[in-house]
Amino acid sequence: MSSQFANFSRTSRTKIVATVGPACANLAQLIDLIRAGVDVFRINTAHGSREEHQSRIDAIRQASQRLGVPVAILVDLAGPKIRLGELPGDELQCLPGQHVRFVRGRQSTIPGELTTTYDPLIDELELGDNVMLADGLVSLKVVNKTPDAVVCQVVQGGTVRSRQGVNLPGVKLKVPALTERDRENAAWAAAAGVDFLGLSFVRSAEDLQPLRRIIVQSGGFAQIVAKIEKPEAVANIESIVAAADAIMIARGDLGVEIDIAQVPVVQKRIIDLCNRAGKPVIVATQMLESMHTSRLPTRAEATDVANAILDGADACMLSGETAVGQFPQQAVEMMHRIALATEDVLRQQYRPCAQPAFGADPAHPITQATTWAAAMLAEQLDAKLLVVATASGRTALSISKQRRFVYTVGLSYSEITLRRMCLYWGVVPLRAPESDDLAAVLQRVVGEAQAAGRLQPGERVVLIGGTGLPVSRHNMIVVHELR
Ligand code: PEP
Repeated sequence: MSSQFANFSRTSRTKIVATVGPACANLAQLIDLIRAGVDVFRINTAHGSREEHQSRIDAIRQASQRLGVPVAILVDLAGPKIRLGELPGDELQCLPGQHVRFVRGRQSTIPGELTTTYDPLIDELELGDNVMLADGLVSLKVVNKTPDAVVCQVVQGGTVRSRQGVNLPGVKLKVPALTERDRENAAWAAAAGVDFLGLSFVRSAEDLQPLRRIIVQSGGFAQIVAKIEKPEAVANIESIVAAADAIMIARGDLGVEIDIAQVPVVQKRIIDLCNRAGKPVIVATQMLESMHTSRLPTRAEATDVANAILDGADACMLSGETAVGQFPQQAVEMMHRIALATEDVLRQQYRPCAQPAFGADPAHPITQATTWAAAMLAEQLDAKLLVVATASGRTALSISKQRRFVYTVGLSYSEITLRRMCLYWGVVPLRAPESDDLAAVLQRVVGEAQAAGRLQPGERVVLIGGTGLPVSRHNMIVVHELR
């Protein structure tokens, strides 16, 4: 059985997603990041080659095996991100009131002319549309259109550089959420056995269907993380949350696509919705941004992480901080410390609620009722450990969404389920011993927890499992008191 009890005496309940990049890609660095608190590694297909991605997957699996702890992999599909083409001299100063022109092709030769990676842009832009460049710092408005060019007036000036992102808030583009490159990457990643696939620029629940089909056709089991970064996604959020396996609030692009002043309240609304719908939710981007170059975050960044946790996020994500920053390990350690400090306060304020706090929990009603009753029992008996034996992870997710403070382990034979649970708030995934005898399994878990100093004689443990009776739901609760 895993030595997870021994390795991680004080893990945060909030899960940490860290993006892999040149700053943390070798085995030793990945091991250090797992020790510092990473639960899920993200590989961003917007950067790097297939060979690089594959060698990172191999290294993450190796690091996880070396430490004997499950670690999940999220492959983030770049989606139809539009970028500027090459600019003469690599940059262009845009002055307010000035006109710039979008033309076809990839390389502009005349100053004031811009090209993009999305050929039909010129056909799809309309008079009055807004175009945002340089992460929203520069904004343009379409003022004229010819068959071969779109003329824009600079509203907010600034410098733009070759290959920077182009955002078109509110513009209804015909581009599908999955590009041809995404399809190839998705098929490869699903076949490679990654745990989560991130879908960028989702606009509606229907956008998820082609990815679902690719995963099945590739023989994979990856779950879909819908990235919320478009106003259309915010408008369709209920149906997207229902269709996705998890949600990422991708604040980088979201903060350009919608008014940046709306991002905090949209974040709170989406987290609340995910919690009521029983879906894991990740808060992403610029959480500890200044740690790219500093050993310490700003006060505002530390507060941002804490507030996301107080809002009810299941996971917080690091992007450039771990991928290309100077202090990847310190960034993970810092996020972990902020999570622990915040969860201490959540624990002090914790009041068990009389009614389930989840509404549309996707778990079966028997599972929901059993997990609820088991958690109440654990609290009433002051149990020190709640063990959830789970095949698919759904039962563990149902417990996770109740936001209890009993130390909870998700016990499974399935490596897929163990890694899936890496995203579940407050659930420590634990490899089940090879036995169908539940009493023997419980004894092993208890023995392991005792050896790690987690349980003392006289303390109680609650276990949720299935009886194996025809209705194979989680329908059994065992209470055990240690001698
Ligand atoms: C974001 O936009 O916040 C995000 C997480 O997506 P990406 O890093 O792919 O731009």
